Amino acid sequence: QAKEEGRNTFRFFSAELNDRAMSRLSMETALRRSLERGELELRFQEQTDLKSGRVCGVEALLRWRHPELGLLTPAEFLPLAEETGQIIVIGEWVLCAACNIALSWQRSGLPPVRITVNISSRQLRHYNLAQAVARILEETGLDPHWLELELTEDVLMQSGAEALERIRHLKANGVGLAIDDFGTGFSSLNLLKKAPVDRLKIDHSFIAELVSGPADTMVVRTIIDMAHNLGMKVIAEGVETEEQRDFLIGHGCDEVQGFHFHRPVTETEFRKLLESGALPQGRPS
Ligand code: C2E
Ligand code: MG
Ligand code: MG
Ligand code: MG
Repeated sequence: QAKEEGRNTFRFFSAELNDRAMSRLSMETALRRSLERGELELRFQEQTDLKSGRVCGVEALLRWRHPELGLLTPAEFLPLAEETGQIIVIGEWVLCAACNIALSWQRSGLPPVRITVNISSRQLRHYNLAQAVARILEETGLDPHWLELELTEDVLMQSGAEALERIRHLKANGVGLAIDDFGTGFSSLNLLKKAPVDRLKIDHSFIAELVSGPADTMVVRTIIDMAHNLGMKVIAEGVETEEQRDFLIGHGCDEVQGFHFHRPVTETEFRKLLESGALPQGRPS
């Protein structure tokens, strides 16, 4: 009896494992084809300068229009892209698309804005990202001044000198560099001080607890002061309320991004936003 059950249990698990392996394999295959099938898309989220209340930048955010599963967010496919190394080609597609779109806005006479692109640490570690960025800037013709790359904090934890070298090569292209989700990792402050970083992005988790939590209030104030002392700008992400916005204005934060201002939108919608010269909602009064 027990033996029988054991065997059934084994078969059950093995079938389930097999299912999972299949779905991983089919996701992997589908992801590999996504590029040639034109299933990758970008969304654009506005970034506001708190002093002027004006649009100062836009973050490009990746989406995958999966033929059966619909529109997927990065959380649903980026880990797979990173594990399989597909992040390299996908990352190049994102960079190219972002540069081309920024140029097309500029060419239609819209006020130029900085476009930021997310970079996985794997892209920085396992191939020559600096060279790829140089090539893409050259091919598209975008002035590097308008491109900013968002690296996560973990690049500042890995192998000190080598990471710094890679970051400096990247920066030598004339692009801006930001540290994304700042405060959630364990940056070496020593590396941060030496790295050519232009902007710190305070992670949304600290912003969410602002006003209600004294500890996070202190963390946010400390990050803003530290960034300014290091000659960097600060942007807060995940700003959802007026209270959070007012706190950030009061404490000298330079820029904000979040649902309180604008959600990520399509290229067409973002173009309209630029065309209207829109003072974003929630501008400082
Ligand atoms: P991230 O770079 O920190 O981007 C911010 C994420 O927060 C975006 O999620 C955005 O939609 C969301 N967000 C913006 N404002 C608010 C707000 O007020 N409240 C809340 N709750 N969320 C807000 P999304 O688009 O799902 O992207 C998730 C992450 O995926 C990004 O986090 C980034 O790390 C990664 N990612 C996105 N696009 C790319 C890409 O092209 N390449 C790479 N390597 N990573 C990407
Ligand atoms: Mg980002
Ligand atoms: Mg972030
Ligand atoms: Mg994040």
